[in-house]
Amino acid sequence: MEKFDLLVVGAGSAGCLAASKAAEAGLNVCLIDLKSTSEVGKKICGDAIGKHHFENLGLEEPRKGEFEGKVLGIKIFSPDTRTVFNVMGEGLHGYLLNRHVFGQKLLRLAIQKGAVFLERTLALEPIIEKGFVSGVLAKNLEKNEKMKLYAKVTVDASGYTAVLRKKLPLEIGISPHTDKEEYEACYREIRELKEEVEDERFCEIYLNQNVAPGGYYWIFPKNKMKVNVGIGVAMKHKFPNPKEQLYKHVLTRELFRGSKVLDGGSWCVPTRRPLDSMVGNGIIVAGDAACQVNPIHGGGIGPSMAAGVLAAQTVVEALEGGDWSRDGLWRYNVLFMSSYGAKQAALDIFRIFLQACSDEEINYGMRYRLITERDVLKASQMGDIRLNLTEKTLRIFRGLRRLGFLKKLKEAADLMKKAKNHYLNYPEKPEEFENWKITTQSIIEEAKVKFGSV
Ligand SMILES: Cc1cc2nc3c(=O)[nH]c(=O)nc-3n(C[C@H](O)[C@H](O)[C@H](O)COP(=O)(O)OP(=O)(O)OC[C@H]3O[C@@H](n4cnc5c(N)ncnc54)[C@H](O)[C@@H]3O)c2cc1C
Repeated sequence: MEKFDLLVVGAGSAGCLAASKAAEAGLNVCLIDLKSTSEVGKKICGDAIGKHHFENLGLEEPRKGEFEGKVLGIKIFSPDTRTVFNVMGEGLHGYLLNRHVFGQKLLRLAIQKGAVFLERTLALEPIIEKGFVSGVLAKNLEKNEKMKLYAKVTVDASGYTAVLRKKLPLEIGISPHTDKEEYEACYREIRELKEEVEDERFCEIYLNQNVAPGGYYWIFPKNKMKVNVGIGVAMKHKFPNPKEQLYKHVLTRELFRGSKVLDGGSWCVPTRRPLDSMVGNGIIVAGDAACQVNPIHGGGIGPSMAAGVLAAQTVVEALEGGDWSRDGLWRYNVLFMSSYGAKQAALDIFRIFLQACSDEEINYGMRYRLITERDVLKASQMGDIRLNLTEKTLRIFRGLRRLGFLKKLKEAADLMKKAKNHYLNYPEKPEEFENWKITTQSIIEEAKVKFGSV
């Protein structure tokens, strides 16, 4: 039985990048997906990605056909739509991808670099031997036959389903469970319009706790006559059906009169900090399976590609050093937390704060610019919130009898800093991990208690 150096489960953005970078470095790589080759890349998504992700990773920017529109910025609408933040700047230049064509390109790249791709191959569970993940029990969906695939290291890049992570024994050291409340249920459609959009260079995000509790709805233009429109709602309490919400509150807008649905579908996205540890003996978790998505805007294509690259680098080094145990793979945790995880953790605190705010509070906060447009951009890039608390805003909020809201916002900003610093000091060695985890839990608990979303 052939034993691969690396087995990657899931040919999404995380998995394809892990497979292509590892194969490029000379490893013997197998990539599997339950989808057929031609279906890879078909993903329910908002399709937006910042240009900086390609620059940071040294990847070629999407070519014509792989993207359908270019973006200059985002307009964020307050719940009463009276205030609009025009958030622009280099950090927000980006693309509206053709997700399928882009996904096909990533797969092609992995195969060209030498990865073996097994289509229609469903991973069922990890194979555990002597405390190590040594491969995967899978099923060939064409032949309806089970098979075992062995590798020194396996990457779970199976997205939201996290098929391997959820079945790992606790001794592996990766938390198999996450809280459903830290995910959003989404529904999105691609629509061809009869009317032109107002400005196809801007993505539109609408905050409204009635329509999209704990999330938002969006209209992302692909061109003047075609949009990606969708909604995400936090999976808390008795959350509403996102498709019903979209049809009831968003598609009734004038813009959609006579429009045609080109594609529609539902999926879920994690909106929390990354898993505390994403490695164990012989296994790395990457992308949505490891909860590596921006907790505020739900962008996960960029970080999942970054995680794929990091996973490949880590495995190459681990195999060179002859140690692919949890210790040998630990560097992946350290590098991800310092490059992206720290910002994600800070934004997770802000997500907890925002989800507990009323529409009225968000209206006031935006109207009186408690955070300026420029600082919204900085927050999304760095995870730092700078508050714009002047004498004038203090007077206004005193008059509105909402000083309590300002106090909470200030506490949230402070806790975000604390969380970011804590993640920047992620333990270099697994031995210090348990203590780090205890502090993490206490920071998150503090946020939940203070901001009322327990
Ligand atoms: C509605 C919605 C809108 C979004 N909008 C944006 C956006 O505008 N911008 C952005 O950056 N991010 C967005 N995201 C998030 C983004 O899509 C994800 O973060 C990103 O695609 C994660 O990539 P991944 O490789 O981890 O997982 P995925 O892309 O989900 O890939 C996982 C792969 O694993 C395969 N797989 C799953 N289970 C198995 C199994 N058992 N065996 C074999 N294969 C399996 C799947 O078929 C799939 O190909 C959105 C998400 C949603 C749901």
